[in-house]
Amino acid sequence: MSLENTIAKLFALGADLSTRNAVRIALSLISEDEELTDQIYVELKNKAYKKDFAKVPVEKRAVFIPQCLRNVKECPAEFGEYGWKCTKCGKCSIGEIIEYGEKLGYKQFYIVPGGSLVKKILKEKVPKGEIKAAIGIACWPELAEAAEKLSILKIPLQAVPLLKAGCINTIVDIERVKEVMQIGIKDPKTASSVSSDISGTPTPV
Ligand code: SF4
Repeated sequence: MSLENTIAKLFALGADLSTRNAVRIALSLISEDEELTDQIYVELKNKAYKKDFAKVPVEKRAVFIPQCLRNVKECPAEFGEYGWKCTKCGKCSIGEIIEYGEKLGYKQFYIVPGGSLVKKILKEKVPKGEIKAAIGIACWPELAEAAEKLSILKIPLQAVPLLKAGCINTIVDIERVKEVMQIGIKDPKTASSVSSDISGTPTPV
């Protein structure tokens, strides 16, 4: 059964899908593979938070990129307080992701080695209002964990799974990342996006 059909079946049964554990139990009740838990949970959260994400101005959206996407052998980036500083050398997909995001007005890109730096960045920047939404690129289990934690912080997350996971030279669907970055942007070609009014309240498009 496809992921979409499985989700539809769970909805039709009125299953509790509010947490990862609830999704796991629901899958076991319909004899579906419990390994789908993280995928289903992440896809449900993506759908649930899409509208809230769309209302957040792009400059308040953080893009978390895993360091495993780097071309480890040739990457000239240096490591700093908030992760690797990409020089857009063109030797991996990260440069293209950042370049495209910057054209849309994104300002916060964090190439991180793992969850502990993500936690540090969120702890520092969420209370100051510098981060109000996030895009996360990672493997399914990490995305599911992030979706749980960010929903507690009321930060709408849009998650993009890696096509090939692992510790090095992973792969992501760049077009999917670009599509997610475009959410809430009226015209991506001219990068006309949601913007804050004087009070800082996001203006929906
Ligand atoms: S594009 Fe950026 S992250 Fe990728 S190899 Fe070059 S400097 Fe490193």
